[in-house]
Amino acid sequence: MGSEFASYDILIVGGGLAGLRAAIAAVEANPKIKVGMVSKVYPMRSHTVSAEGGAAAALRPGDSYENHAFDTIKGSDYLADQDVVEAFVREAPVEVIQMEHWGCPWSREPDGKISARPFGGMTTWRTCFAADKTGFHMLHTVFQTSLKYPQIVRHDEAFVTKLLVEDSRCVGVVALDIRTGRFDAITAKAVILATGGLGRVYAFTTNGNICTGDGMAVAYRAGAGLKDMEMVQFHPTGLPFTGILITEAVRGEGGYLLNNKGERFLKKYVPNKMELGPRDIISRAMITEFEEGHGFEGPHGKYLHLDVRHLGEDVIDRKLPFMRELGREFVGIDIVKDPIPVRPVQHYMMGGVDVDITGASQIEGLYAAGECANVGLNGANRLGSNSLSECLVFGAAAGRAAAHRVAELQPVGSNPIDSLLRDEAKRIEATYLNKKGGKERMGVIREEMQREMDANAGVFRNRDGLTKLVKDLAVLRERFETIKIDDTSRTFNTDLISALELDYMLEVAGTIAASALAREESRGAHARRDFPNRNDEKFLQHTVAFRTDGPAPRLDYRDVRITTFQPQARTY
Ligand SMILES: Cc1cc2nc3c(=O)[nH]c(=O)nc-3n(C[C@H](O)[C@H](O)[C@H](O)COP(=O)(O)OP(=O)(O)OC[C@H]3O[C@@H](n4cnc5c(N)ncnc54)[C@H](O)[C@@H]3O)c2cc1C
Repeated sequence: MGSEFASYDILIVGGGLAGLRAAIAAVEANPKIKVGMVSKVYPMRSHTVSAEGGAAAALRPGDSYENHAFDTIKGSDYLADQDVVEAFVREAPVEVIQMEHWGCPWSREPDGKISARPFGGMTTWRTCFAADKTGFHMLHTVFQTSLKYPQIVRHDEAFVTKLLVEDSRCVGVVALDIRTGRFDAITAKAVILATGGLGRVYAFTTNGNICTGDGMAVAYRAGAGLKDMEMVQFHPTGLPFTGILITEAVRGEGGYLLNNKGERFLKKYVPNKMELGPRDIISRAMITEFEEGHGFEGPHGKYLHLDVRHLGEDVIDRKLPFMRELGREFVGIDIVKDPIPVRPVQHYMMGGVDVDITGASQIEGLYAAGECANVGLNGANRLGSNSLSECLVFGAAAGRAAAHRVAELQPVGSNPIDSLLRDEAKRIEATYLNKKGGKERMGVIREEMQREMDANAGVFRNRDGLTKLVKDLAVLRERFETIKIDDTSRTFNTDLISALELDYMLEVAGTIAASALAREESRGAHARRDFPNRNDEKFLQHTVAFRTDGPAPRLDYRDVRITTFQPQARTY
């Protein structure tokens, strides 16, 4: 371990849509800067690849920025920062067209224009799509574009374990090279976190195995705030057991949700929107149907039907071919002939690293974008298809802001870095690799955490459940200190990576539980049985969680920025 380490102007952690978009924006803003990119998986395996439905942008005639902004703010249950939403809706069409110019194969109208489909909570058709594999095509587009720039240097399959912070400034990361097991310091004048979501803290989730909240946890440990962590999105239509997502586009294209009496039950809950209501309300409606005995019973619990049979084979094969494949492969049905069993499933994290509209956190040199960040766009409930656009708009914003900022910052010396790197390598070796006498099994702790999160921080919450969750997570954290991992080798040590991820998950799960317990109201995705109403007087505020030396975070509150739309009752 010498003092030779890779050094960049900007280091991006994450090779998903937000990270790649940030990298391109940074080198376009200043072609002279060097950008490093660290990703724990090869970029094309980032979770973005599995996005199905589409990316929202007000592009079509008749649509307007104002409408997209209002839909987003109402969808957020008025917890979105309205200046952020206004900037977002203006930039989203620019970004979608930029993607077009980089070769994204958007689905098209007969006249060649980019097509759009309806999506939940949007009052008009504004979700641009590439069949039902939108994320794959968008990620491919930015990945291939990034290859044009020799200034972008990738470190694939390197796992970030810690942010390097020197004199209150973020100056790089420590990364474990998964292939060799070597710890490296990678320094930079600015770091952009683009590490995606944390769905794996739940057992039943649409998120890939790699979505473990790493970036949020390392930022939190470095002193950054995590904002609105109680706001966890549940998607109405996951396949029972696997949690595989059946995209909202299925309802966008006209699919029906039916209960065990064959009724389109949403007429009782969102009569004006029906299947195109927002995700939080539809998820609650489905759980209520289960509780009232209107669900089907299956080997993996209760479910309802999502029915597309009336759309016909031609539409299904043209617009939803991947859904037909998922039905065949994972349920053994043909969706042309059979209804699809579905139930609400954890899907997206509205909360994340507290950043301003440029992506800057409170720590000098530390930026965040995409699902790991909370820029203030999604509030208490994200509208489907706003996230891919968010990754583009705010990934690009963070890349540009960091490019401008690094021109003013001095490079970091190697002196303190060497010792920070040595300390981090020693910590991990002592905690995991050279530990004697550990007894707890990692898988057991992970499953208990996930079960607790499903049970107590799900679609509906209450004080008793959340209090229990806070306590149980603290106990799991203590037990985690005594885990034993079987593999102590260096190369491709997936046991070690899983342990590091579980450490992060316990960290972020704790912020979800504490933030949710403290918010004594129901707003968007945060539905408290004991406080069923929204309370604007007390809680029209963002929660910001900071790490303490004790088991519980310190919670701070910040006003929501309201520019145009005063909070109203949220009915659909
Ligand atoms: C199944 C599914 C379908 C979806 N469909 C849609 C949709 O249709 N429309 C929409 O708007 N949104 C959709 N979403 C949400 C949206 O896809 C995500 O929010 C978005 O793609 C996140 O992108 P990202 O760039 O922030 O992170 P990701 O794409 O998750 O990338 C994270 C990156 O961080 C890296 N990383 C993480 N931790 C570390 C670490 N410790 N060290 C090094 N690297 C690390 C990973 O390697 C990866 O490259 C969907 C989500 C899911 C799960």
